[in-house]
Amino acid sequence: MKTFAALLSGPAGTTSVTAHFFGKQLVLHDLGISVEIDQLIVSVGGMEQPELFLNWLDTQGRQATLQPLGAEAIATVLQDAPASLQPPLHKLWRERKHNRRQVSGWLAGLTSAAVLAGALFWWQGSNAIGALAGLIPLSTEKQLGELALAQVRAQGQLAGSGAAQQAVHEIGQRLTQGSRYQYRWFVKQDDSVNAFAMPGGIIVVHTGLLRQASSPGEVAGVLAHEVQHVEQRHSLRQMITSLGWGALVAVTIGDISAVAAMLAHQAGAMYFSRDMEEEADRLGVQALQRARIRPDGMLTFFQKMRDEDSGKTAAPGWISSHPQTAARVQRVTALIAGTPCPNCLPLASSSWQAMKAALPAAGKR
Ligand SMILES: [Zn+2]
Repeated sequence: MKTFAALLSGPAGTTSVTAHFFGKQLVLHDLGISVEIDQLIVSVGGMEQPELFLNWLDTQGRQATLQPLGAEAIATVLQDAPASLQPPLHKLWRERKHNRRQVSGWLAGLTSAAVLAGALFWWQGSNAIGALAGLIPLSTEKQLGELALAQVRAQGQLAGSGAAQQAVHEIGQRLTQGSRYQYRWFVKQDDSVNAFAMPGGIIVVHTGLLRQASSPGEVAGVLAHEVQHVEQRHSLRQMITSLGWGALVAVTIGDISAVAAMLAHQAGAMYFSRDMEEEADRLGVQALQRARIRPDGMLTFFQKMRDEDSGKTAAPGWISSHPQTAARVQRVTALIAGTPCPNCLPLASSSWQAMKAALPAAGKR
């Protein structure tokens, strides 16, 4: 772990800092800031001599840039950067003579459609969507979420208040303290056992799932998982993957009717990769433990779903979009066993009884 001198430019101006890589983070220790490596975008510029930049968006979606100062600092970055950052570093820095002109300054026009499209062509790779999604401003993500929500709303039976929504809100708030997103919780009157997350912090839970849940802890387990699909921008990435970058460009330039039409076909039916599901489980368990909630609810709900899964031909919604239930039960069991949380308590919810009483009987709409 070697430190290097750098210049940090961001919304607050420009400061000299020392930085180092630690695990999967870039740490600016004198400022108490650490940035996840997968949030970093490498760029190269400079007129007289080549300069290297590490860029990211802060919690308010504003761009920050770290520039290692001098050859020695750059050498430290190239040597110490974690493996996941090595390919872009290698590609940009070592091949900079070829692409210097294109790279220089492309981040400046981040929100412009041409730049986004150009960046995608220029940097093709399996990580392109993940990394570029990290650069999309929160405001754009929220707009996409609002559009998706409008589609779900149009299908009807969506409640943003009432006893059931109140219970979901109360449990959800426990899990999202300190998040950069302002979460909104909805309950959809629908018998299928389902819950889903839309970009920008919108979580929808079906009454069928609430009926299946036998404790606040089980709802917390499902919500903890769904919240991570927002936090890790899985929902945003999936939306971009299925709609294409054109949708993002359309939102950015205000042409929302086209996007709304595209979303009509897929709102509420998002399928995530197995990696994303595992990440949501793992970070969901951590979020429960941070909130001092015993994570067993996630496990018991999965177990219940697994048993349903094997007994029926038509699996309930949350399971059909969340495959490999048996394997997940095993993984989450191991996860919980591996991170004991003696201070965690079973979750109590003051609105639980009222929620259960308010749920419509199955089969009635
Ligand atoms: Zn999921």
